[in-house]
Amino acid sequence: MVRHSSRIELSLSALKNNFRFIREKIGPDAVISSVVKANAFGHGIVPFVAMAERCGIRHFSVASSFEAYEVIQARTRDSRVMIMGILYDTDLEWVIDNDVEFFVYDYRRLEQARDIAKKLGKQAIVHLEVETGGNRTGMSEKEVIPAVRFMKNNEKYIKFEGFCTHYAGIESLANQFRTQRQLQAFNEVYKKVRKAGYLPKYRHTACSAAALAFPETVMDMVRVGTAQFGMWPSPDIYNLHLMNTGKSKDAPLRRVLSWKTDIMHLKDIRKDEFVGYGTSFQAPRDMRIAVIPIGYSNGYPKGLSNKGHVLIRGNKAPVVGLINMNVFMVDVSHIHDVELTDDVLLIGRSGRNSISIRSFSEFTNLINNELVSRLPSAIPRHVKK
Ligand SMILES: *Cc1c(COP(=O)(O)O)cnc(C)c1O
Repeated sequence: MVRHSSRIELSLSALKNNFRFIREKIGPDAVISSVVKANAFGHGIVPFVAMAERCGIRHFSVASSFEAYEVIQARTRDSRVMIMGILYDTDLEWVIDNDVEFFVYDYRRLEQARDIAKKLGKQAIVHLEVETGGNRTGMSEKEVIPAVRFMKNNEKYIKFEGFCTHYAGIESLANQFRTQRQLQAFNEVYKKVRKAGYLPKYRHTACSAAALAFPETVMDMVRVGTAQFGMWPSPDIYNLHLMNTGKSKDAPLRRVLSWKTDIMHLKDIRKDEFVGYGTSFQAPRDMRIAVIPIGYSNGYPKGLSNKGHVLIRGNKAPVVGLINMNVFMVDVSHIHDVELTDDVLLIGRSGRNSISIRSFSEFTNLINNELVSRLPSAIPRHVKK
């Protein structure tokens, strides 16, 4: 087998731990929908779906019909799939035929779904998404009651599975006024739905931040992406957790992903020589340099030029020079006995040192989700206990 220039390891015990923690936060009743859009946030949809299923998850959320197809290929149990984002007219028949659930945010879609379901002799499984102030997708309030009536009148072909919305930045306390108003708006529209006499199976509004910090948003289902991977949605949410538990330090979430590569070449250079392209790094002394076979095309951010670190033999080795497309260099002068066969950790723990996903956002303007979701799908993923 031809070898790839890096590898990703996924920890099943970390994932189990994270779902246990999320469950503690949301209580025993709400369904956890594992959000696996963007190749499971770069973790790899095929291994990740199976891992989540081993943790008891039976509901997955994605951003497109293509991703729904990927989950259906990847699942190993009778798990459900829900499309929260783009669903083309031309995919609707496939979606209904495969019992894939989907968000509906305009009335026209209900008529299409009814017609196709009728033709197939099936039920379309619909989550009505209501506009509450995020102004992304979402059905305007005045369309909601006619939509609910339409579903009631076409009960045989449309299943009113969910009633939902999405918060516009609930991970930041700076947005709290706006997101609280969204919750209020949601609850008010829901009252009207109840009056119309037709109820959804699930109400759901919560993403990771909402599920971890705002119990009133949990309802019947939560859609959890970020937190399941062991990443806090924001410092605000972590600090709220500390405040609510009275702890000064706590690490209840564990990172699922580690990323490793190898040393491609070792070389000794003289004081005053430049390293790599251009003149951004000039050796302040005689140095030993390791060449790493990873670059920005492999998902390692260019913003870490002259700033990032990797771990070799448990020691931090600083990036020297620019991150190139497929290569960068690190200083290993201080790491004795460094050898070509040593593992290089890009993300992960080695000895007493660790490189977190969050550390990348301290040096670049990438947020956690942006970094991991850009890890190329071609990198092999290995599941560890
Ligand atoms: C991505 C997404 C989520 C999950 O958000 P996290 O903050 O990663 O938990 C939930 N709902 C919708 C509609 C989303 O697009």
